[in-house]
Amino acid sequence: MRKNYIYAILSIALVIGIVGYFAIDTTEQAPVEDKEQLTATGVYWSYTGETGPEQWMNVNSNYEACGRGELQSPINIEIKETADQQEAVKLAEQISLNYDQAIFAVENNGHTIEANSTTLENSLLINDKEYKLTGIHFHSPSEHQLNGQYFDMEAHLYHESEEGKLAVIGLFIQSGEENQILAEMWDEIPTDGKEAAKILKNPVDLQLLLPEQKSVYQYVGSLTAPPCTEGVNWFILEQPIEMSDKQINRFSSIFLQNNRPIQELNGRDVYKFNLN
Ligand SMILES: [Zn+2]
Repeated sequence: MRKNYIYAILSIALVIGIVGYFAIDTTEQAPVEDKEQLTATGVYWSYTGETGPEQWMNVNSNYEACGRGELQSPINIEIKETADQQEAVKLAEQISLNYDQAIFAVENNGHTIEANSTTLENSLLINDKEYKLTGIHFHSPSEHQLNGQYFDMEAHLYHESEEGKLAVIGLFIQSGEENQILAEMWDEIPTDGKEAAKILKNPVDLQLLLPEQKSVYQYVGSLTAPPCTEGVNWFILEQPIEMSDKQINRFSSIFLQNNRPIQELNGRDVYKFNLN
């Protein structure tokens, strides 16, 4: 009698268990909390929290350099500690800038606003090797520091050689006059990653985008976002360019903070010279 009672209870429990299991919607996955973390490769990373810079290495096996690399970017540039002047003069002689106008297609890739050059006519010559300008994107606040100081924003102008080597010109952006050169781009900034890239009507004059003074700090570092690939030739212009508060706020209303923390210098030399 007692046994039957126990069997009955166990049977009811089993039925409740089975019904309960199928009643739960097992298709419901954890929601994607932040679509801005989605990259073109479908791997999630972000600038804060569980997929933030400290975890980039763990997000994907291809991102190991983000955690183990020793030539990483960005860095703090201490103006007084720039290296051997003679070497800097030699470097300066090997580098020239071939900038004219470029038409850009602007998109929001979830991590930044990216303006891709629709032509490959602008370039940076390093040791007679051509690095073609492929695009510009932006960070808020700046990624690099000068003497421990951040700027409001930083623009990165990407150049790539035929062999896939990278050279990046970094422009600090500080609050000031409205930037006319980037005005149309800013009017067309896609606020949402789902929007198609917008091709700007007017060319951007790259010579006019750069600051008057062409003093640069050069060092070898990495991509500042996953996969943090090393061997990137960095040229950071000392004189900041300006954007109005309205322009800066327009960007930070979309990307409040998209800068990687400062990385260890690890004995690397930083050279200072003028870009021609
Ligand atoms: Zn960048």
